[in-house]
Amino acid sequence: MTSRLAGTVALVTGASSGIGHSTALHLAEHGASVAVVARRRDRLDDLVAQIEKSGGAALAIPADISDRTQAEAAVQTAADHFGRLDILVNNAALMLLGTVVGADANEWERMIDINQKGLLYMTNAALPHLQRAAQEGPRQVADLVNISSIAGRVSMRNMAVYSMTKFGVNGFSESLRQELAKSHVRVGVLEPGKVATELVSHNSAEVIEDIEANFGGFRELDAQDIADGVTYMVTRPRHVAVGELWIMPTAQG
Ligand code: NDP
Repeated sequence: MTSRLAGTVALVTGASSGIGHSTALHLAEHGASVAVVARRRDRLDDLVAQIEKSGGAALAIPADISDRTQAEAAVQTAADHFGRLDILVNNAALMLLGTVVGADANEWERMIDINQKGLLYMTNAALPHLQRAAQEGPRQVADLVNISSIAGRVSMRNMAVYSMTKFGVNGFSESLRQELAKSHVRVGVLEPGKVATELVSHNSAEVIEDIEANFGGFRELDAQDIADGVTYMVTRPRHVAVGELWIMPTAQG
């Protein structure tokens, strides 16, 4: 356990699997107390036990962040429990792929509700805490990291609405970065290429086959590779802000 984040409190959404799970572990290893948010309570409880076993502090907050009341309550619960909030990692998202023609509009709404509205609710609720941490905290800086995607940089076939949600995250983040620059709340996006997680598993067998045909045959990233990136972003010196970090598998063209 290192202590670069000693005394800080982080909240990670989507911490029950994949990148969020790994990020919570990394931040705890660097000394942050971590509030972990997702819908699957059993997974969160296991993660908290793992962090506590290694000498860290963590709190499981089961919540559906697409529900504004639950998102706001999650932030408040974390701030009440730990007394502050220095870092928010907006990581939870859903990726449902396929053609636009003949698509189920309910799937679009679910993605927009989680990837965009959920991120906005969490951000809105967390900002007063982050601003206070930047003023009064030991680091004199606070961090908001939004997990976007390569699909937020370039658009690809069969990813139209997922891509729209991630382009939106990028646009929102850069505007907010400029708004908060003077108050030392750093806002950055991290854009992963293909990472081995549960993300694709919510799609039909046909779509998964299509993804493998187009984006298969190379060594994917591990969730830890992205957690490393998040940790890098939030451990820079106070005068250094990483506004954008794009991390790809070496062999993904
Ligand atoms: P996973 O599917 O493994 O993780 C998604 C997480 O989001 C889960 O913990 C899930 O938990 C949580 N979640 C989903 N819906 C909600 C909700 N309504 N409320 C609260 N939590 C929710 O995927 P990844 O780890 O891969 O994805 C993490 C991020 O990385 C996403 O933003 C994704 O877009 C991005 N990304 C991933 C890539 C990849 O190749 N894997 C590539 C580029 C970007 P639960 O179901 O328990 O609620």
